Amino acid sequence: MTDRGEAVDVAIAGGGLVGASLAVALAGSGLAVRVVDPVTAEAPTQPSYDDRNTALAPASRRILEALGLWPAIAAEAAPIRSIHVSEQGAFGITRMDAAGEGLDALGHVVPNRVLGRVLRERLGQLPEAVQQVTARVEAVDWDDNDAVAVRLDGDRSLSARLLVAADGTHSVLRERLGIPCDDSDYGQCGIVANVTPARDPQGRAYERFTPEGPLALLPLRGGHASLVWTVAPERAEALAGLPDDAFLAALQDAFGYRLGRFLRAGRRAVYPLRLSRSRQRITTRGVLVGNAARTLHPVAGQGFNLALRDVAELAERLHVAAGRGDDPGSPELLRAYAAARRDDHRRVTAFTDGLVRLFSNRLPGLRLARNLGLLGMELFPAARQQLMRQAMGRGGRPPRLARGLPLETPTHG
Ligand SMILES: Cc1cc2nc3c(=O)[nH]c(=O)nc-3n(C[C@H](O)[C@H](O)[C@H](O)COP(=O)(O)OP(=O)(O)OC[C@H]3O[C@@H](n4cnc5c(N)ncnc54)[C@H](O)[C@@H]3O)c2cc1C
Repeated sequence: MTDRGEAVDVAIAGGGLVGASLAVALAGSGLAVRVVDPVTAEAPTQPSYDDRNTALAPASRRILEALGLWPAIAAEAAPIRSIHVSEQGAFGITRMDAAGEGLDALGHVVPNRVLGRVLRERLGQLPEAVQQVTARVEAVDWDDNDAVAVRLDGDRSLSARLLVAADGTHSVLRERLGIPCDDSDYGQCGIVANVTPARDPQGRAYERFTPEGPLALLPLRGGHASLVWTVAPERAEALAGLPDDAFLAALQDAFGYRLGRFLRAGRRAVYPLRLSRSRQRITTRGVLVGNAARTLHPVAGQGFNLALRDVAELAERLHVAAGRGDDPGSPELLRAYAAARRDDHRRVTAFTDGLVRLFSNRLPGLRLARNLGLLGMELFPAARQQLMRQAMGRGGRPPRLARGLPLETPTHG
C-alpha cells in the first residue's frame, strides 16, 4: 500500500498571489492547511512576485484590510484618483474621476514584490495549522471517497479533504484533475516596465488604445509610472531589448506627451497575452482558483482582483463549514461556491475580452463606433459608471471579506 502522507483539510497547490492569499484567509478557521510550492516566496524566480505592479480595486483593498494586510501594503501603494481613456489618432476621450464619484481613490497600484513580501511575512506568522511546504505537486489520485491523495516530488504526499489548484496559467493540477481548458491567444504580448515621465502622473492612470493593442500607464509613488504596453509578438522582444533611449522614444511615439518626455525606463519583461478558461472550476474534492481557473488579458487589471473575490467567497464558506464540523471538500460546498462566483466571472471575462477585441479590430466602421463610444461615455455618465463599476470590482452580493468584514468561524453546540 502507498504511503498516504500527512492528512490535512486543505492542500493549496501554488503559493503565488492567489494561493498565499487564500492560506492567509483560512488562518483562524481551525482547518489544517498546507500551501505547497516548489519556489519559496523569497526566491528571485517566484513568478507571482516579479517586477510587475498590480492595480487593486476597492473591493480588493477591503479584502486585504479585513485580512489585516492593508496597513503594510498601503505604505507602498499609489492611489488612482482618475483614469484617462483614449485612442491613438482619434478624438474620443473618456475620464473617470474618484472625486466625482465621492470616492477617495478608484484603486491602488502596488508593486507585486510588496504584495509578495507582505503575504510571505504573514504566512510566516500564522498559527501551526497553516504551514508552507516547499515541494512540487506532481500527481493526484482519488483512492478513497474522503480525501484526495496529493503526490509531491521527493516521494512525499499529503492526503487532503480539499485540493485547491492555484498553480497558475499552465496549471499541471488542472491537467491532472482532467479539466479541459479553452485557450485563445490574443496574438499580443505585454511589455512591462517602470518608467519615469517628466511630469508626475499625480494619481492619474492612462489607458491608451493603439492599433497594436492597449497601452496602460499606472501611477506609482515618487512620480514613476508602471507601463503595460501591448504590442505584436514579433515586435515585443526586439522593442523590449532596445537601449533605454530608443525604447523611450518608441514609447513616446505611442503614448504622446500627456506626461511630458519620458526620462527613464527600468528593466523590461515580456508576457504573452492570452485568455484561458478552464471549463470547470470545481471537481471532486478539487477547486481551481486564480490563473489556473482563468487567465485574463491585463488590459483592465482584473485578474488578481477577480481571484481575490474568489478567495473571499471560498474562505468564507470554508470557515462556516469548519465551524459546523462539515466536510470542507463536500460537493454541496463546492457547488454553492461555484454558483456564487459564476456571474462575476462571466461579467469580468466578457468585459475584459470585449474591450481587447473592440479596440484591437482595425475595421474603419468600428473605429468610428469606438470614438463615439468613448465620447458617449464622456457624455453619458451611466455608461461610464458601468465601466467604472466593473473596473472597481463591484456588482453581485459581495462575500464578507469584500465588505471589509473579518471571517468568523461560528461554533455550533
Ligand atoms: C502584465 C500583467 C499585468 C497584470 N496586472 C494586473 C493588475 O493590474 N490587476 C490585477 O488584478 N491583475 C493583474 N494581472 C493578473 C495577475 O498578475 C494574476 O491574476 C496573478 O498573478 C495570478 O496569480 P496566481 O497565484 O493565480 O498565479 P501565479 O502568479 O502564476 O502563481 C502560481 C504559483 O504556483 C506555483 N506552482 C506552479 N506549478 C506548481 C506545482 N506543480 N505544484 C505546486 N506549485 C506550483 C508557482 O511556483 C507559483 O508560485 C496582470 C498580469 C500580467 C501578465
